[in-house]
Amino acid sequence: MILKSSLRLKRLACVIGILLSFFVGAIAAPPKPNVVLILTDDQGYADVGFHGSTQIPTPNIDRIAAKGVMFTQGYVTFPACGPSRAALITGRQQDRFGSSRNPLFAPNDSSQGVPLSEETLADALKRADYTSGILGKWHLGTHPSQHPLKRGFDEFFGFLEGGHTYFPEEWIFRDDAEVRTQYGGYRTRLMRNNGRVDETDYLTDALSREAVAFVNRHSNQSPFFLFVSYNAPHSPVQASDKYLARFSHIENIKRRTYAAMVSAVDDGVGRILEAIEQNGQIHNTLVIFLSDNGGPIQDNASDNTPLRGGKGGFYEGGIRVPFAMMWPDGLPAGSRFDKPVSSMDIFATAAALAGVTPKKHLDGVNLIPYVTSENDGAPHPTLFWRNPDRRISVIRDGDVKLIRQANDIQIYDLSKDTSESTPIDPASLPQFASLMEKLDGWEAGLMPPRYLGLMQEAEYNRQNPDRFNLISPFEVDTLPAVVPQGYELVWSDEFNTNGVPDSTKWIHEQGFTRNEELQWYQLSGNTQIKDGRLVIEARRETILNPNYEAKSNDWRKNRATAEYTAASIKTPGLFSFLYGIMEVRARIDTSMGSWPAIWTLGNDRRWPDKGEIDILEYYRVQNRATILANAAWVGPRGGVLWDSAKIPLSELLDDMPDWPERYHIWKMDWNEDRIELYLNNVLINTIPIQDKTHADGFNPFRQPHYILLNLAIGSNGGDPANTRFPITYEVDYVRVYQKP
Ligand code: CA
Repeated sequence: MILKSSLRLKRLACVIGILLSFFVGAIAAPPKPNVVLILTDDQGYADVGFHGSTQIPTPNIDRIAAKGVMFTQGYVTFPACGPSRAALITGRQQDRFGSSRNPLFAPNDSSQGVPLSEETLADALKRADYTSGILGKWHLGTHPSQHPLKRGFDEFFGFLEGGHTYFPEEWIFRDDAEVRTQYGGYRTRLMRNNGRVDETDYLTDALSREAVAFVNRHSNQSPFFLFVSYNAPHSPVQASDKYLARFSHIENIKRRTYAAMVSAVDDGVGRILEAIEQNGQIHNTLVIFLSDNGGPIQDNASDNTPLRGGKGGFYEGGIRVPFAMMWPDGLPAGSRFDKPVSSMDIFATAAALAGVTPKKHLDGVNLIPYVTSENDGAPHPTLFWRNPDRRISVIRDGDVKLIRQANDIQIYDLSKDTSESTPIDPASLPQFASLMEKLDGWEAGLMPPRYLGLMQEAEYNRQNPDRFNLISPFEVDTLPAVVPQGYELVWSDEFNTNGVPDSTKWIHEQGFTRNEELQWYQLSGNTQIKDGRLVIEARRETILNPNYEAKSNDWRKNRATAEYTAASIKTPGLFSFLYGIMEVRARIDTSMGSWPAIWTLGNDRRWPDKGEIDILEYYRVQNRATILANAAWVGPRGGVLWDSAKIPLSELLDDMPDWPERYHIWKMDWNEDRIELYLNNVLINTIPIQDKTHADGFNPFRQPHYILLNLAIGSNGGDPANTRFPITYEVDYVRVYQKP
């Protein structure tokens, strides 16, 4: 009662606040809701009270459905953890960015997980001033660049791997460096942020405890985003006596233990809801509950009744999950929504409520207008799934579901046949051809898998014999020159002969060139090879412009002088290549005004139609020093399009304060499907290629490109007026490898 009236007082205060702000001339925006996302792991569709389970009571999880909305057809995007979570955290189908497989425990491998060019929900909410925390299972990469604190979260407590044992006495590895097998990753000590902690609680209880602490810590500075990522009831099936005692009547030991694990989660959900309520936040908190995929019936004794199949497969039992959402301020209590919704909708819904525009096109939609009946259409008239390794692709169009595996087709009408027991003859389906066409059209926009996953572990180990021999991603100075497996060196400059750059390999640019930059590029004098390195030097010195015409409209002519000199070297006509790996070891000057680059341009057509790939650019984005990895091309209606990844220099300095003094390795891995750009073996950007083909068949990234290395001054690099010159850009080598 006291709680209720204090809430009323708060609401009254809020109303007064709105009135006051109205009188001073501004209308206050409605407060942004907190977001609490509770994800379970491998929980069966039938194993919640709100779907009728009486064997496993889940009164707290049921409260979310009772005080909000229950989705009877809530889908995830893949019937296993990693890909499902990749889509959940990005709001985008995981095959759009190649995260199609379960990531391995591979802390040296930055490609395992979600590419850094994708925005996470935590990244997006950060732009709306949310404080974000994740507790429990990450499973979106174990490389340091994929750590939750690098992916938009402010706090992390849990583990990076795909699963974990539940009893602290089993956590024998102090950190990842001691792990020597894939499943050894299940037995590491837990992490708090970047460190390791000693924990004594049963894992599920520890995560619930931390969730309550997070809510208590952040409620007075809301909004917050809390992602409670329970690994229960994923195997190993382990429960503490406290929860097992509740299910002594279940004879099957595995099912009994599973029930106890779900019950522990339910207790945790109760504690979290109570904490939100006690902090006066319950009305303005969006709470979402779902499982990351259907129950693996054999593995953990879960129950997907009445759905067919389970984890790993594309019958409903693999992809349709318990799913509920509550938000007392915005959603009617006790409602039920029977149209298909997707886990990808969580990102879109949260972003819409927070008032942020996602950086990439989402596959999910904001569910609020549908649930409130403001929009009586379907959030997803069509949904798609895919497992490229098993050559399975699936379309659900209205109530008709078509599962294609290689040449085998199965079709079901879910409106009459929820259990997918009676296949429909394709010949009897008028829309068969159109379904196949839609499915093909959808698949054409997807990327192949970017990394070998759990199902390819043997092959991964063969290709990566040093998988468990951890290297710091920030110490590459000592890395040996290794020819990537399956490739051979086709062109390189090691810059080992003192003097000027080899004229059989490089052409110097001359004069004013691009972007109204300040420097005058010179034929020589600003490049020098010494000590095995190419040194490009920018100087503050005045050059008379021989092309000067005071009245010209061309900036290259109407400047009487250049105040800086620098150099740009390139390889057109001397060397170009189509596909392969290009690697450059270099040190850049990060002073104001400096704009060094490692890039390529296509041989044919004019810029930007010819295509540009920027393996490195360093310049100021909104006055922030930034490392960029980009590609540019012409859009279908003309105009230049960019796919850019941006890393603020400040983030690199956090990890390595002397970053600008060191050499780093910039790498491009380019094939006919995609371009991957790396910094120190960390994948920064993945650029799909297929969708850049013009109507006439020309694709700027399926033609040979030549190389450019340059140091520009001014323009995007910032104002160099207060910079001490000369500044230098040093290149140790440029190497290009191709498959024989
Ligand atoms: Ca799972």
